[in-house]
Amino acid sequence: MHCPFCQHADTQVLDTRVSEEGDSIRRRRRCPECDKRFTTYERIELVLPTIVKKDGSRQEYERPKLNASLMLALRKRPVSAEAIEAAVVRIEEKLLGLGVREVVSQRLGELVMRELKKLDKIAYIRFASVYRSFEDVDEFADLIKEVRPLRRAKRERGSSKE
Ligand SMILES: [Zn+2]
Repeated sequence: MHCPFCQHADTQVLDTRVSEEGDSIRRRRRCPECDKRFTTYERIELVLPTIVKKDGSRQEYERPKLNASLMLALRKRPVSAEAIEAAVVRIEEKLLGLGVREVVSQRLGELVMRELKKLDKIAYIRFASVYRSFEDVDEFADLIKEVRPLRRAKRERGSSKE
């Protein structure tokens, strides 16, 4: 780190502290050349990828939007707000894990479907029916088939576990 006062090539770190929120590091530095002191902050950068829609337009990722679509799919279903929030966090972690600047909306849709499938089968179908364009009817039929045996199993065993 160059000294901002005399441009000396190296500075000495006097003190290092992690912020209360734990997301940044504060360093107190001293220039051995001019003896001036200054502080630097290092922030962990977590940038979610931009969503590329089917028509090629780009949209910033917005948590409230993702949350709203999950809530809509899960309307009147027995799933807690906490479980929805946890699903949103998992989707964000996966998006961050991709390590890319842009991601196609289909990829996001798949991540949402995977979470809904775990949370609630009805919500999964609701979302999938809106999300998938149904150009392929067989695809939807497959989806129904995927869910039916599970519902039957639920009645027999009295369990919603997969
Ligand atoms: Zn200096």
